[in-house]
Amino acid sequence: MNNDKISFYLQNNNNLFNADVLTVCYKADENEIKEYGLTSPNIVLFIKNDKISEIKAENDCNYYDEIKKMFSEKKIILRIQSECFLGMYGDSHCDCEIQRINSIKIISQNDGILVHLPQEAQGWGLHYKLKELELQVSGRTSNGEYIGKKDRDSAQKILLDVNNFCDNRNYGIVAKIFKELSIDKNTFLLITDSEKKVSNLNNMGIKSIKYSDDISTRINADNVSEYLVKIYNSTHNYDEEIISSIFKIISKRKYNEQDKSMKKF
Ligand SMILES: [Zn+2]
Repeated sequence: MNNDKISFYLQNNNNLFNADVLTVCYKADENEIKEYGLTSPNIVLFIKNDKISEIKAENDCNYYDEIKKMFSEKKIILRIQSECFLGMYGDSHCDCEIQRINSIKIISQNDGILVHLPQEAQGWGLHYKLKELELQVSGRTSNGEYIGKKDRDSAQKILLDVNNFCDNRNYGIVAKIFKELSIDKNTFLLITDSEKKVSNLNNMGIKSIKYSDDISTRINADNVSEYLVKIYNSTHNYDEEIISSIFKIISKRKYNEQDKSMKKF
């Protein structure tokens, strides 16, 4: 691997991850920037792994070998965070910041990788995004002319003069970086709410399944029957915590209460 493409920095005790974190930066070239809808050449990976603290400063170190050792035959928790500059600075029109914070929490408590992908505004960039948001939130063009509020897709049609919504992004660059780091054969537990993201990654050759640690909090009275069908059909295996949350929801259902009161008579 050409050393100009990948650089490493071992951070001692990162304040967000509460651990030593290996930072990897991949510098994309002009062709990759176009091909993958990147808005900057630098893709940053934050790697949290207990073995990182064993790497001694002031010794020779081959980070490629170290990364291979860290994740040998293991499932890797993964968050791919598309860049969202305004979200990081508190824009209430975006829910990505809370997802970023939650992902860091999950990775800090386990091991895993957070990829910061510079694909702002579906790859159209921050300059474009401000125009798009101004149309969505205030209904104004960048000249200040009020033309009425537009949804995201309509705003794009006006700004780019296109007929269908265009998403420039793809995750091929992540697959490429994982291959360079020899972790492309691992299975990834993706922190996301989007099934589409999971299938997009699989299509790019990154074997991914949805990370489901918080699944028990997503089960509610409306969707509990879906989980029961999956158990009945033996298509899914759930751990005790999930089974018990399913049981709690079922036991609170009204017909159970009625059933109990019927017995009194
Ligand atoms: Zn955002």
